[in-house]
Amino acid sequence: MSGKKVRIDYDTCTACELCYDRVPEVFKNRGDGIADVVRYDIEESDEEKWMRVPEELEEEVEEVADECPSGSIIVEEED
Ligand code: SF4
Repeated sequence: MSGKKVRIDYDTCTACELCYDRVPEVFKNRGDGIADVVRYDIEESDEEKWMRVPEELEEEVEEVADECPSGSIIVEEED
C-alpha cells in the first residue's frame, strides 16, 4: 500500500509554529521552536526522517505544507 510521507527541512524552518498548532497529530515543536514530525517511520539519515501520513490527515498536511512560509514541510509519495 502506498501513501504519503512527510518530513521537515530543519535548516529552513523558521519556527513560526503554524504546523504544530494546526496538525498536532503529525507535527510537534522539537524543543527549540523548530518543527518535527511526531514519529519517525522511515529514517534515511539524520536530516531525513519521515513520518507516514495517516490517510485521514493527508489533506490537512498538504494544506499546511502549502502554507508553511518557508516551504519547509516536504511531502512525497511513499516509494
Ligand atoms: S509551518 Fe513551516 S516554518 Fe512554521 S514551524 Fe512548521 S515547518 Fe517551521
